[in-house]
Amino acid sequence: MTVTIEAWRITGQSQIDSYVGRWVELAVLLVNELAVTQARGRPVELPAARPAYPSAGPSAGPSAGPSAGPSAGPSAGRRVALEAAFARSAWTPAPPPGPGPSRSGSDTVPHLGRTGAAGSASGDSAVGIGRALTDEEADRLADLAAELHPAFTGASGAIATLNQCLVRHAAVPSLHGDPPRLAFHRPEADRVDAWAADAATSLAMVIGVGQGLRLRSCEANGCDLVFFDVTRNASRRFCGLPCQNRAKASAYRARRRG
Ligand SMILES: [Zn+2]
Repeated sequence: MTVTIEAWRITGQSQIDSYVGRWVELAVLLVNELAVTQARGRPVELPAARPAYPSAGPSAGPSAGPSAGPSAGPSAGRRVALEAAFARSAWTPAPPPGPGPSRSGSDTVPHLGRTGAAGSASGDSAVGIGRALTDEEADRLADLAAELHPAFTGASGAIATLNQCLVRHAAVPSLHGDPPRLAFHRPEADRVDAWAADAATSLAMVIGVGQGLRLRSCEANGCDLVFFDVTRNASRRFCGLPCQNRAKASAYRARRRG
């Protein structure tokens, strides 16, 4: 799926549009899977309690290694939920094949590697994102989801939170691969920091050019799902048709009660 920001569709911008769209989509996926507590009119049980909350589990936090606990419990729950979401969305960190020279050159950076073409050595669930997620990565991505969520809700402090996120994950413009491609993480960043830096930078780019209203939460009752509004006039209000229909029906009932 290619997402472009229609308002930005000017000559020479398609690469940037594609980059921003791809990483905002990742932010949407992470927030909806790991930070939203009601969806389409129903409460959602998070794959796990927020890691920032006190936990009696064996995993002491983001710094706990993958060997910190058995592969069950909150961390594994997050990982499984994320892998399912990645499989559903077909999201991939690799840029879509563009015009120009073939992309047969091998990327040496794992998180920029081409994925989804030849399957994955680590199982179908990881197709699209390269190697499978670890529990530790899933925990860190849950923290990231919480950091990115305010950008979609316009909560007070959202900008400060996003700025902190950019600093925390060392976002920096950097050229990767051959031919060189612009990214916003250090070459040595691990996968979560790389994703975090690229996603946070993309949200910042959307907000920074005055398009922040395109980062939205569903307006239907009982739904906090977030989405990236790429309609021409930024007029999308709901996460999808089910919520749009629910909202319409409830507005109709309200009028009838009048
Ligand atoms: Zn909704």
